[in-house]
Amino acid sequence: MSATDVERPRVAMRVPKAYRAAVVHDFKDRLTIDEVPRQPLEPGQIRVRVEASGLCHTDIHAAHGDWPVKPAPPFVPGHEGVGIVEELGPAVTEVALGERVAMPWLGYACGTCDYCVSGWETLCLEQKNMGYSIDGGFGEYATAYARYVVKVPEGIDPFDAAPLTCAGVTTYKAIKVAGTRPSDLVAVFGVGGLGHMAIQYAQIAGGRVVAVDLLDEKLELARELGAEWTVNAREEDPAEAIKQLGGADQAIALAVSPASFEQAYGSLRRGGTLVFVALPAENHMTLPIFETVLNGITVVGSIVGTRTDLREVFDLHAAGKTHVIREVRPLAEVNEAIDDVEAGRVAARIVFEP
Ligand SMILES: [Zn+2]
Ligand SMILES: [Zn+2]
Repeated sequence: MSATDVERPRVAMRVPKAYRAAVVHDFKDRLTIDEVPRQPLEPGQIRVRVEASGLCHTDIHAAHGDWPVKPAPPFVPGHEGVGIVEELGPAVTEVALGERVAMPWLGYACGTCDYCVSGWETLCLEQKNMGYSIDGGFGEYATAYARYVVKVPEGIDPFDAAPLTCAGVTTYKAIKVAGTRPSDLVAVFGVGGLGHMAIQYAQIAGGRVVAVDLLDEKLELARELGAEWTVNAREEDPAEAIKQLGGADQAIALAVSPASFEQAYGSLRRGGTLVFVALPAENHMTLPIFETVLNGITVVGSIVGTRTDLREVFDLHAAGKTHVIREVRPLAEVNEAIDDVEAGRVAARIVFEP
């Protein structure tokens, strides 16, 4: 340990003994804003004063206990937390006090398994997830593992950085996994927090975009972001409409309904790729074997993104290549915000201010 390490302050003066956070106590109840006591940091952990924290559909599924693997209440949701490092636990060298960091879904991984060392840390079996298996960003403070936060570059607004931390990186990775190349037709199913970013990343990769949604306002947003074609799935069959464009080279399934996944599958041209991203509470869809074989279809799952992916996402944003559509609300309105997302009353992303 060098002299500078010894001298470096490990805690900012202002970290309080308790702070407010939105807590899930029961899957059937609304969240409550509680005073949460400050816990001592373990080796490798940091305390972050949260500036902004996005509301992802995953947080809503977590709060409802919708999925086969459930979180254990009480817990604090949130995996789009962005804030300032205000306390360093023992042995932290990766970040310094005062730095702005993002705290993504992949809150911790082992760092040594085959997945971790081959650039697939998102598949690590030892992983811990912010806002799910460990407390997340819906609070005035959050605890994170220094190795798994990502620094937010200068010049990025924390309220933009928050949605990029899940919605951004997840769709960025999905476009990478899809293998989009110049002139490919990319069908984006679901224009919300994720979809509005997917439309932009597909174009950055050189793709041309057809966007599908049930709401005209969302399709208008898709066109503003560069989608050349839009399909309202309430008015016409998206699979047929996209087939008329020649069929999609890749379809990105971002809407939380198995029917939408089936439409995305049906929209593909021969040799096309369907990327599963959304996680509907209803877990199954019908996938025809015969057509999948004869048409040479690829179906692939894509789960969030790595720290490297998130750094690239931030770099693109800092370079002015992406726009984040979001609205800021106080964390105290977390339940109303969840209602609005579930009712489709939100243009893209809600970001909480604690
Ligand atoms: Zn998310
Ligand atoms: Zn691992």
